[in-house]
Amino acid sequence: MENEMTLSFIAKTENERLARMVITSFLSTIDPTVEELSECKTILSEAVTNAIIHGYQEDGKGVITVSAKREGRMIEVVVSDQGSGIENLELAKEPLYTTKVLEERSGMGFTIMETFADEFQVETAIGKGTVVRFKK
Ligand code: ATP
Ligand code: MG
Repeated sequence: MENEMTLSFIAKTENERLARMVITSFLSTIDPTVEELSECKTILSEAVTNAIIHGYQEDGKGVITVSAKREGRMIEVVVSDQGSGIENLELAKEPLYTTKVLEERSGMGFTIMETFADEFQVETAIGKGTVVRFKK
């Protein structure tokens, strides 16, 4: 019951749907519950949206990579960008903290991801990018 996949795409909002579809398909073989599937898709969407709008400022050029690994019923997903990186990760993870106050962002992405994931980690470096890893 082991499997792995990698998907790369450019930082465009329309590709978020692509990432969700691929994960849905990848997960379907373990017969996830409706809840597991929707939580996984939500975490993925939040991470991919962040990479698009914050990491690359929607430049339509930067590359985002989503890779997923499955062992039995455990799934590990890694979303990485080589964009701006996050200046203060502690602060960025605080509920309601956003650097895009004027653009209807609620600053809840990291909080949602941490709540839904069984394990959740972020690595980031200024000018190098951000890697979000979660297990479900
Ligand atoms: P929401 O997710 O509710 O729409 P948000 O994206 O601002 O709002 P979070 O997802 O919690 O909130 O992210 C908090 C902050 O962390 C962002 O405002 C941004 O400054 C920074 N951030 C998050 N992901 C990245 C990333 N991949 N690259 C650069 N900065 C990021
Ligand atoms: Mg967000």
